[in-house]
Amino acid sequence: MSIKENLANIKTALPKNVTLVAVSKTKPVGDLMEAYSAGQRIFGENKVQELFGKWEALPKDIQWHAIGHLQSNKVKHIAPFISLIHGVDSLKLLQEIDKQAKKNNRVIDCLLQIYIAEEESKFGLNKVDIDKLLQSDMFLELQNIKIVGLMGIATFTSNMEQVKKEFLSLKNIFDDLQSIKTYNFALNTLSMGMSDDYLLAIECGSTMVRIGSSIFGRR
Ligand SMILES: *Cc1c(COP(=O)(O)O)cnc(C)c1O
Repeated sequence: MSIKENLANIKTALPKNVTLVAVSKTKPVGDLMEAYSAGQRIFGENKVQELFGKWEALPKDIQWHAIGHLQSNKVKHIAPFISLIHGVDSLKLLQEIDKQAKKNNRVIDCLLQIYIAEEESKFGLNKVDIDKLLQSDMFLELQNIKIVGLMGIATFTSNMEQVKKEFLSLKNIFDDLQSIKTYNFALNTLSMGMSDDYLLAIECGSTMVRIGSSIFGRR
């Protein structure tokens, strides 16, 4: 099926309150243009250089999301235009985003990446880390970032019970943090669910799904 048909099929399955991020990493700009022509305006990339190149090449009304692990020294390249950074997992990274956002005279929206998978290798924070972050003076000082939500990646497994358990644990943390509202922290976005598990993620309360291969084909 074509990119356009894939997009149409996915969109019919998404409730109105769920935002679709088209994950276009490794795909050529022609593929992104096809999705753009079909009305898609939000794209996710995980490598800064590739993200920057595609931003330069493509229409300027696209909203770009950084979805992968982001290195502090790369933030400056995307700070002028990035619309949402999904993978924030340290105060150090937040401070760098804040600094670069300030230089560009803007506020950059961020999601905290929460560790929910069983696998050892995944990046992310746990609930204790978040509580510590929220209580630290250095976090309170950040004026050019805003934490608008949480993001998580479930264990790579065909065991959907396991995946469901992980999604629900993330939703639980999300709900717990709803009561906290400050000028740089107010959660409205729960980014969870990819090609293989987005329907389950939505069942578990996702408001933003990151879908790549089901739109653009295998990488
Ligand atoms: C690649 C990627 C996705 C999309 O994965 P698919 O299985 O192709 O839908 C989603 N989120 C992150 C963080 C990714 O790196």
